[in-house]
Amino acid sequence: GQPPFSLLQVFMEHARNTPERPALSFEAERYTYGELAHHVTAFAQALLRHGLKPGDRVALFLENSPRFVIAYLGVQYAHGIVVLVNTQYRQVELDHILTDSGARACVTGAAGAEELVPLLPGLPALEWLIPVEPPTVALPPRLTVLPFDALLGEPVEPKRLMLLPGSINIAVLGYTSGTTGRSKGAMLRQSNLLSNIRAVTEAWRWTAADRLLLALPLFHTHGLMVGLHGTLYTGGSVDLRRRFVASEVLEALRDDTSLTMFFGVPTMYGRLLEEARRTGVRPRPLRLMVSGSAPLSPQLFQDIEATFDQRILERYGMTETLMNTTNPYDGERRPGTVGMPFPGQEARVVDVRTRVPVADGELGEIEVRGPHVFAGYWQKDEATRESFDANGWWFRTGDLGLRDKDGYFHITGRARELIISGGFNVYPREVEEVLATHPGVAEVAVLGLPDADFGEQVVAVVVPAAGQPPPEAQALVDWCKDRLASFKKPRRVEFVDALPRNALGKVQKHVLRERLSPR
Ligand code: ATP
Ligand code: MG
Repeated sequence: GQPPFSLLQVFMEHARNTPERPALSFEAERYTYGELAHHVTAFAQALLRHGLKPGDRVALFLENSPRFVIAYLGVQYAHGIVVLVNTQYRQVELDHILTDSGARACVTGAAGAEELVPLLPGLPALEWLIPVEPPTVALPPRLTVLPFDALLGEPVEPKRLMLLPGSINIAVLGYTSGTTGRSKGAMLRQSNLLSNIRAVTEAWRWTAADRLLLALPLFHTHGLMVGLHGTLYTGGSVDLRRRFVASEVLEALRDDTSLTMFFGVPTMYGRLLEEARRTGVRPRPLRLMVSGSAPLSPQLFQDIEATFDQRILERYGMTETLMNTTNPYDGERRPGTVGMPFPGQEARVVDVRTRVPVADGELGEIEVRGPHVFAGYWQKDEATRESFDANGWWFRTGDLGLRDKDGYFHITGRARELIISGGFNVYPREVEEVLATHPGVAEVAVLGLPDADFGEQVVAVVVPAAGQPPPEAQALVDWCKDRLASFKKPRRVEFVDALPRNALGKVQKHVLRERLSPR
């Protein structure tokens, strides 16, 4: 037949062709493809009966669970737009996303409803609450409450729902992590989701025989658009976890011989390693272990290899473009790099000022092009224009890096975090790597703060190593002076107990910047 035009369509075909095949397990719950598709259809039809219009935004403020998956696919089937919300968000962030997206409905749990209710006066567009459990707070009468399970229980009509062509249909507003500022809603088309997951599954040889242990949050690209999408695209299965618990994950990876893949962020791998060293539990080697969302240090790569007998595959992606590059599945996996573009996609490095492509080995901003690139930021035309080149062809990722002579991409930091001090470029990551090698340093973040003389000054925020006296600030400055050009050394060193990190373990430098605002 014709090639598929949406991931939803591919999923529905699996459900028709192999309804008995297991799709999803979660705690005591089990779903085959047929069962999952039945619930998705019921949910979509119920939304339509209650009056959902094409393009209406439905926010998911929900922990990992089968209901998340059903709602995610059901909203798309009903031609709504899914709005993804980080479950760690509290009132200020939740308010921003619900206001920005103009969500008409919100699917959430009891705790979510508690966060939501005080915001309602400022959210006139929000008409429906779809609770997955009974709310514990009083709900104002203007809100229509549609209990999730009651929607699933409504009769399913035999009439098939229409699947929309992928290229015109916005399926998801993926909100960026807000690492460099306020999070923005990335408009992702069905065609973006489909083409990217096709590229990912091809590159990683992902098939229906695979079973993934997924403990990443589904509200974020990594868990959802790689983990869940890859499973649904291939017809494989997923062992979904409510959240990441190192001991549980480690034991499952040792005991469950059906598991073939695990995806994580570097902080997860760090915790698995700690737990393995503490308990002596070792995972069986898997077909594939993937790291992404934040830089995986070569040290961690090597420790995992030594302890788990497993060479992690590191890849690089983002909300706006889904997966950009990957280390090779068969070829050499190079620690400290994010590999090459996925099949059918392009990436290049351009000079930050002239926007002209630079030679291999030279630093610049990474740009990408291809069918995976999103349709723009939701109601932010200027931000959208600024994030593309003059022709609107290449997307400016905002990440700095280089391509080495063998074609591997290296990420060296964020364009917005580049420090320009006295006219010199200072890449925070370079200074961080030097400071991290000091024995008195457990963790470090380097950022630029305004400076009257130099424009910006280099500031290091240091978490001292446990079990020893904290190093002198001057000792750290000297450590840098011995190893780097003088203009890169920190002018100021601050000690903290912990670095602020978001749900994916990324250091939130804007939080540090606010805390350290110039003296
Ligand atoms: P915001 O855009 O709101 O500032 P964010 O960029 O952190 O937040 P995401 O889209 O979740 O939001 O994250 C994408 C970013 O994560 C990439 O642009 C890149 O900086 C970083 N990233 C992803 N994978 C890797 C990796 N393997 N190595 C280094 N950085 C990575
Ligand atoms: Mg970003």
